[in-house]
Amino acid sequence: MLKLENLDVFYGAIHALRGVSVTVDEGEIVTLIGANGAGKSTLLRSASGMVRPKTGSVTFLGENITRTPIASIVSRGLVHCPEGRRIFANMTVKENLELGAYLRKDKAGIASDYEYALNLFPRLRERLTQSAGTLSGGEQQMLAIGRALMSKPKLLMMDEPSLGLAPVIVQDIFRIITTINQEQKVAVLLVEQNANKALAVAHRGYVLETGRITLQGPAAELRTNPEVKKAYLGE
Ligand code: ATP
Repeated sequence: MLKLENLDVFYGAIHALRGVSVTVDEGEIVTLIGANGAGKSTLLRSASGMVRPKTGSVTFLGENITRTPIASIVSRGLVHCPEGRRIFANMTVKENLELGAYLRKDKAGIASDYEYALNLFPRLRERLTQSAGTLSGGEQQMLAIGRALMSKPKLLMMDEPSLGLAPVIVQDIFRIITTINQEQKVAVLLVEQNANKALAVAHRGYVLETGRITLQGPAAELRTNPEVKKAYLGE
């Protein structure tokens, strides 16, 4: 479904990704784990068109999108739910959700996805007219995911969805990721510092170290890999 091949990405003199290749197949949850600064966010940004690789290619649903405009990438169903939530603080919850669908024209589909998002996150339904900036951290994360769902993703890329959230909310967020994957048939590329939880919900995983993929495989295998355990699972 998504194929990143031999990506090299630079920020000025910083070589953030070095020959990185990653794939996500239909129906999969794939996780990317790695230390701070390893290049995880950069990898997602390269796929969504926010940064352009110097060399290498990005293919989505069989089409080369390496230089495709961002809006057109979103329209194809490759949607990025960025780190730090990036909701519109001065707009209401409802307005934020509606903005997620700004590239769509299928009114009935939009209405049904709106209901789906609110059923997934009942807390948002209770707060539709509240300005998004006054939501709690967990609620803002729910809104960011809800908004991403409103753009009808085929593949949802999530950057650190559990960052800074209380354990009970973290649990909720991971449950929702599995639900979206199973009910909506949305493939997920998940970047997480919480490697334990990420590997528990994922089918496959990659380990990124200073811009290079150093390990990859079924999530169950990575969870028992001694190097992964030592470096990322705190064992
Ligand atoms: P974290 O888990 O801390 O978010 P990450 O694995 O997502 O880290 P990236 O944010 O992709 O890492 O950053 C990879 C490298 O690129 C880092 O060395 C970072 O400092 C650098 N970098 C990222 N964005 C920029 C930018 N806009 N300008 C310059 N350097 C950048």
